[in-house]
Amino acid sequence: MDALVATVPPAPPDISIARLHGEACYTCGAALCPLTPAGAVRVRIEGGWRVWPVVACSAHVAGGVK
Ligand SMILES: [Zn+2]
Repeated sequence: MDALVATVPPAPPDISIARLHGEACYTCGAALCPLTPAGAVRVRIEGGWRVWPVVACSAHVAGGVK
């Protein structure tokens, strides 16, 4: 695995597409509130990993992506 990709936390396998694509808070799934960039997660794809930027609501943005 690429050393940079290894620093990105992996998303759970059942992550919703809305959360993965930055249309809802990564932590709670809220979509009808201000959403702020909150880092990135990686998901396994054939042959490696795909990194997606994710967003968080005001309640979860401080904690970042875990
Ligand atoms: Zn949230």
